[in-house]
Amino acid sequence: MKLHEYQSKALFARHGVPIPKGQVASTATEARAIAQELGGRVVVKSQVLVGGRGKAGGIKLAKSPEEAEALAGQILSMTIKGLPVRKVLVDEAADIRKEIYLGITNDRSTRRPVIICSSEGGVEIEEVARTNPDAIVREYVDPLIGLRDYNVRNIALAINLDREHWKAFSAIAMGLYQTYVDTDATLAEINPLVINGDGRMVALDGKIDLDDNALFRHGDLAEMRDLDEESPPETEARKYGLSYVKLDGEIGCLVNGAGLAMGTMDIVKHFGGEPANFLDIGGGAGADKVTAALRIIVAEPRLKAILINIFGGITRCDEVARGVIQAMKEVGITVPMVVRLVGTNEEEGRRLLADAQMITATSLADAAQKAVAAAK
Ligand code: GDP
Ligand code: MN
Repeated sequence: MKLHEYQSKALFARHGVPIPKGQVASTATEARAIAQELGGRVVVKSQVLVGGRGKAGGIKLAKSPEEAEALAGQILSMTIKGLPVRKVLVDEAADIRKEIYLGITNDRSTRRPVIICSSEGGVEIEEVARTNPDAIVREYVDPLIGLRDYNVRNIALAINLDREHWKAFSAIAMGLYQTYVDTDATLAEINPLVINGDGRMVALDGKIDLDDNALFRHGDLAEMRDLDEESPPETEARKYGLSYVKLDGEIGCLVNGAGLAMGTMDIVKHFGGEPANFLDIGGGAGADKVTAALRIIVAEPRLKAILINIFGGITRCDEVARGVIQAMKEVGITVPMVVRLVGTNEEEGRRLLADAQMITATSLADAAQKAVAAAK
């Protein structure tokens, strides 16, 4: 789950990271009032859950409350990378002297958090990573010991940070690390971390990705979810406890078990098809869950065929069949459906589906080939 900039920065601030004064507005009039209170010179920032807002025109500087109102009006009517802007953050404007990148994520190969830092921060950080990788430094942190002063000194030295900023930088790195640990984040990032005209360091932008699997420990964070930013199928999938990832192909896959779902996608691709989604209904799914899954699958406009691959263990094939039949009544499925049911109650499942105009298959290879042919 991604947090907005304003939410991320509020969490950083709780851990002692300096952030600009500012507030969120959902109308231009509100933006004007906030700008007035901040003294007029502000930056108006779209709050959407994608990167590169600055380059897309979603970040604008204003010299007066009137200008802030006008710019907020413009930005609130924008759509950035497909996401409509519904809120803006109005922050006091910073006088930027230097932009630093500072982020933390998990490094799976070393099994530790890694701090990534660059003195070439700002909107071109991806370009820096491509063309000048040496300008990006990495410091690995032992998760049992936590972030230590020597780690921070290593980073400060490696990015050639002036000594006068080390103390502030250290407090910010510690605050960022603590936020990352306390929230069970998979990413916590400040870009840019700026040194401003009076020599202070401030986190101008903030980004946090939370680990969905740890959200049950963080009721307060779970409530920060912005449903407006989620696509309807994602919301629906979460409601029914389905693991769903939208993909770009045309064969919808309904499978039980993440491993089997991956295997199903691989074999679809092997026979020349493209999966429209990853969808794991999980173990022991009942008819309602199957119906919800099919509703999500048929909502995909590109869909040309559906492949249902169930290996019945704790999931019973007859329950899946009932779900399929219920979904056919409810949503009217117009594309061909290929079904492979194996395992617990498979005969009952097949008997239920016998009248239902379905292509049946015995092996996974057979099912995938039939689905690819049906989609053509
Ligand atoms: P992003 O494009 O989504 O990463 O949004 P950021 O919040 O990082 O803003 C993009 C860029 O806008 C920053 O790298 C800055 O160069 C610029 N910017 C943001 N806030 C201010 C500000 O208060 N003053 C000035 N002068 N520039 C700003
Ligand atoms: Mn940024």
